Amino acid sequence: MEKNWKMLADKLAKNHNLEAEELLWLYLNRNKERNQYLYETARKVREEIYGKEIYIRGLIEISNYCRNDCYYCGIRRSNQKVRRYRLSESQILDCCRKGYALGFYTFVLQGGEDGYYTDERLAKIISSIKREFPDCAVTLSLGERSRESYQRLYDAGADRYLLRHETADCRHYRKLHPKELSLEHRMQCLEELKEIGYQTGAGFMVGSPGQTPECLIKDFCYLKKLAPEMVGIGPFLSHKDTPFRDCENGTLEDTLFCLAVVRLLLPQVLLPATTALGTVDPTGRKKGILAGANVVMPNLSPQSVREDYLLYDHKASTGVESAEGLKELEKEMESVGFQVVKARGDWKQK
Ligand code: SF4
Repeated sequence: MEKNWKMLADKLAKNHNLEAEELLWLYLNRNKERNQYLYETARKVREEIYGKEIYIRGLIEISNYCRNDCYYCGIRRSNQKVRRYRLSESQILDCCRKGYALGFYTFVLQGGEDGYYTDERLAKIISSIKREFPDCAVTLSLGERSRESYQRLYDAGADRYLLRHETADCRHYRKLHPKELSLEHRMQCLEELKEIGYQTGAGFMVGSPGQTPECLIKDFCYLKKLAPEMVGIGPFLSHKDTPFRDCENGTLEDTLFCLAVVRLLLPQVLLPATTALGTVDPTGRKKGILAGANVVMPNLSPQSVREDYLLYDHKASTGVESAEGLKELEKEMESVGFQVVKARGDWKQK
């Protein structure tokens, strides 16, 4: 392996930072062998903090209604082909009961930006979950809301909030989103979530239409500056009923590279091996873990709606991607030397 590349990777592992030009050089000069070195390095850094533990989250997709029209998303509002649904409080609580019995101690309530879920409704749902399962964490992934709304949901007991920034490059953001959405506002929401005290998650798609190497480097620099507790990274996968239907998908290798870099930039980060990674390649989840990821989020949504929450085509929702497949997931993780732990799995402070 060329000495310079390895030296730079080692510098990243040691300082948890690099100049933007250095990150770009690493990215542009990557190859299979060098990537392997980066993954191993990221894995070691992750093991120093989280050992061999894999945290699991039960994902409950509460609504596929969305007021937004992001060009990459299968449940965007102008997709008329989607069968829309939303879950009631009692359905959500049933999912939590099922998940708790299986060993989940974090529930992720994810959905489009659906006006039905007012602060009042959500606060009631969150406090019901926390009352029944006081030893569990609640993560929200419900898009952009006002600061007051974030505060109210936090006060109701929500612990974490996921809001991917998708790209830290303004021009690229414009290519992915209609004009009513802005990167500036997205970033403001992330700042507010952090200030309120949420364990906050940002993140982006790898290989989305119009993404250049420079865009990716901006993502890395933005994440380093924001220092979120969680980062969600998955390959872009096209959906047949969106304007990006004919665009090429992101690749496994590029996504693994990004996971490893993010682990090295933010050693403590909670980093999922996403469903999209398991969809792009059946070995994607395991490889994600071996490149520095430490979280998996199996699907806990009711079976009857799983087919209706498709942000991209061919989404994996059975086997290890489902809560019912937890045993299978445990075996898969053991096969690469890791253990699924039944715990809240909070972010670890230095
Ligand atoms: S990406 Fe999120 S905000 Fe955008 S259309 Fe899809 S669900 Fe709505």
